[in-house]
Amino acid sequence: SKARGRGVYTIFSPEMSESHKRKIMIANSIDTAIEENQFCLYYQPKVDGNGIQVGFEALIRWHHPEMGNIMPGEFILVAEQSGKITAITQWVIRRACEELHQITDRFSSRVRVAINLSVHDLRHSDLFDWIYSAFQEYNVNPRNIEFEVTESAYLDNFDSSEKLFKRLHNLGCKIALDDFGTGYSSLSYLTQITIDTLKIDRQFVTQIETSERCRLVTVSIIDLAKRLSLKICAEGVETESQWDYLRAQGCDTVQGYLFSKPVPLHELKDNHQDIPHD
Ligand code: C2E
Ligand code: CA
Ligand code: CA
Ligand code: CA
Repeated sequence: SKARGRGVYTIFSPEMSESHKRKIMIANSIDTAIEENQFCLYYQPKVDGNGIQVGFEALIRWHHPEMGNIMPGEFILVAEQSGKITAITQWVIRRACEELHQITDRFSSRVRVAINLSVHDLRHSDLFDWIYSAFQEYNVNPRNIEFEVTESAYLDNFDSSEKLFKRLHNLGCKIALDDFGTGYSSLSYLTQITIDTLKIDRQFVTQIETSERCRLVTVSIIDLAKRLSLKICAEGVETESQWDYLRAQGCDTVQGYLFSKPVPLHELKDNHQDIPHD
């Protein structure tokens, strides 16, 4: 039989599917994972048109002692559904701030570290305070931090998002709209929100060589960004020809396996040249 405790299943039943059991195990392991330091951050470089690493996206990794490596594509969703995402986000913010100095020391004081925020985080009125206190505790210059949020997360919480991102932007943080082009059909909101960068989703980049339509959509997104004075970052760049195409179209930065997979801090490669001024 199934027992519900505050809406979460706590007892396994024979008829429960394996995937459902796995979700419950994951949800129930998150608190311990934070307490026992099972999470870590990997970083994926964002490079400019000259191949210089100008930023790094922090991507969470989880090595569970029994279940092995669990990817964020799986556990972030579970964390969102079980109300545990905020604890994870608070951990990510603090760890990224703690590790930032190693990155600025090694690369440049102009480098930016990007932190992903989830839709549920934006519903917490304390989010700004958590971020701000992490900045203070770890002596972080907000100019070194960027936040990535999907367009649906932003727009589903429009008023609280706008208030939060205005405040963060005033501190000097940058805001990027993640997975752009995959969610909303309306573009009118782009004139109303506080953002600096559009991130072109990997699904467009992957098809650049094979689909004329994807090329047209990609060029249109870049053109739109330019007209709105936004920066443009393309994710999921895996081939030289994708990079050549995106650079030629005026894409500011790119990110993808062509340059590096997300890696632990100490495995980041050095820049061959200093990061230029904006
Ligand atoms: P995302 O924010 O869109 O991150 C990009 C994902 O694409 C990452 O997967 C990255 O490893 C992968 N990727 C980057 N370049 C390439 C490429 O060239 N080819 C391919 N095939 N993949 C590439 P990852 O790290 O597994 O993260 C998946 C998603 O989980 C992220 O998508 C993000 O939505 C979420 N996530 C990861 N870390 C965090 C976090 O700290 N907080 C929150 N809230 N979400 C996170
Ligand atoms: Ca992201
Ligand atoms: Ca993305
Ligand atoms: Ca994505």
